Amino acid sequence: MLEIGGVRVDTLAQTYKTPLFVYDEDQLRSRLQEYATFFQSDTMETGVLYASKAFSCKAMLRLVKEYGLSLDVVSGGELYTAKAVDFDMSKVYFHGNNKSKEELEMAINYGVGTIIVDNLMEAQMLHEMSQSIDHTIHVLLRVNPGIDAHTHKYIVTGHVDSKFGISLLQEKELVDVIRTFDQDEHLSFDGLHAHIGSQIFDKNAFIAEIEKMFGFIKHLEDTYDIHLNTLDLGGGFAATYTSEDHPIPLQEVCSTIVSHCEKQNQELGLSIQKILIEPGRSVVAEAGSTIYTVGFMKQTPNKKYVFVDGGMADNIRPALYQAKYNADIANKMDAPKDTVYTVAGKACESGDILIEGIALPKCEPGDLLVTYTTGAYGYAMASHYNKNPLPGVVFCRQGKAREVIRRESYEHLIDLETDE
Ligand SMILES: *Cc1c(COP(=O)(O)O)cnc(C)c1O
Repeated sequence: MLEIGGVRVDTLAQTYKTPLFVYDEDQLRSRLQEYATFFQSDTMETGVLYASKAFSCKAMLRLVKEYGLSLDVVSGGELYTAKAVDFDMSKVYFHGNNKSKEELEMAINYGVGTIIVDNLMEAQMLHEMSQSIDHTIHVLLRVNPGIDAHTHKYIVTGHVDSKFGISLLQEKELVDVIRTFDQDEHLSFDGLHAHIGSQIFDKNAFIAEIEKMFGFIKHLEDTYDIHLNTLDLGGGFAATYTSEDHPIPLQEVCSTIVSHCEKQNQELGLSIQKILIEPGRSVVAEAGSTIYTVGFMKQTPNKKYVFVDGGMADNIRPALYQAKYNADIANKMDAPKDTVYTVAGKACESGDILIEGIALPKCEPGDLLVTYTTGAYGYAMASHYNKNPLPGVVFCRQGKAREVIRRESYEHLIDLETDE
C-alpha cells in the first residue's frame, strides 16, 4: 500500500473520503527551507515570496511564516487568508492587473508592505488614495520585458500586448508612472517587477530576464537619473510532473540568479540592493497528490477507460493546458503495469480526461488511484462544476494526518442559496 507522509492511502481514503488532496508535510517544509537557504547573496539583500495563488490556505501560510518567507497575494481573498494567520503584513506583496478600489483600500488598511502596481490607471488610483494614509507603502512597478518562457524554450518576443505590466518599450509611460510615485510622500518607489512565465526549465530564460532588466535599470539611471534599489524577478520555477520533466535543481537555479544579479550590478555600476523571487508551483506542486476511488471501467473500440470520482473539477490543468500527470494504483503498488488506460473524470464534459494512455495494473472498482504532483493550481483552481463538493485537504507527517481543509458537504453547496 502506498503511503504519503507515513500514512496509508487506504486509511486516508476511508477517513476523509475521496477525492482527497494529500500533502507530504515534510516535503513542503524542506522545500520552504531550501528556498530560504539557497537564495542568498553576500552583497545584496534577498527575499523569497511564496506565490500563494498556487495553494493558499491557513495551514500553508502558517508554514510559510514559520520558515520566514514573504508572501505574494493576488486578491482580497488571498490577503484575507494572510490576515487570518496574522502574517506579518510588511512581508506581504500585493499583485494583480485589476485590483479593485476595495481591494486597494483593504491592503492599505491591513498595512500591506508592498503593492506591485500593474498599470498607469492603478498608479493614479493609488496615488489619489495614498493622500489620506498615515504610513508609507512600498511600490514596485510590473513591467513586461518581452521574454516569454512558458515552455522548455524561452523566446524573446516582440510581445508587447500582455495584459500584465507595462512594456519596456513604453518608456515614456513608465517614466511618468515612476515620477508620480516619486512625488508621493506616502509611496516609496522601490523598483521593478517582471514575471516571464511558469514551469520554466531553461535557466537561460532567467539569465535573459536578468540581463534585460539590469540593462533597462541602467538606461533609467543614465537617461532619467532614476535610481532603483529593488528588482523582483517573479516566479516560474518548474516542478516534475512526469519522467519527461527535468527542472533545474533548486540550488542551481537560485545560485545562477543570485550570481548573475551580483555580476550585472557590478559590471553596470548599479546599486540594486535587494532581489526577490516569487516561486509558487515549485514550492507546493510535488508535495501534493490526489487520491481518487475507481468506479466503472469501459472499453471502446480503441481505448480502455478507467473512471475516477473526481476529474476536471479538482484538476483543471489537463483540460486547460494539456498538462501531463503520473499515477499509481495505491493498493496495487507491486502489481505489473500491464494495461494501458485513459483515466477520465466524472464531469459531463468530454475534455474531462486526467491522463491519456498510462500503464497501470488492471483496475477494479474500489481501487485507489493516486495522481502525483497535484499540489499547485489543483485545489486553487477547483470548481463546483456539476455541483460536486470540493474535496478535503490533508497534511501528513511522520505517520500522522491532519485535515487542513474540510471536505464540503451537500449542505455547503446550497448554503448561500436563498428561497427568494
Ligand atoms: C503566478 C505568478 C507567480 C508564481 O508562478 P509559479 O509558476 O507558480 O512559480 C509569481 N509571480 C507572479 C507575478 C505570478 O503571476
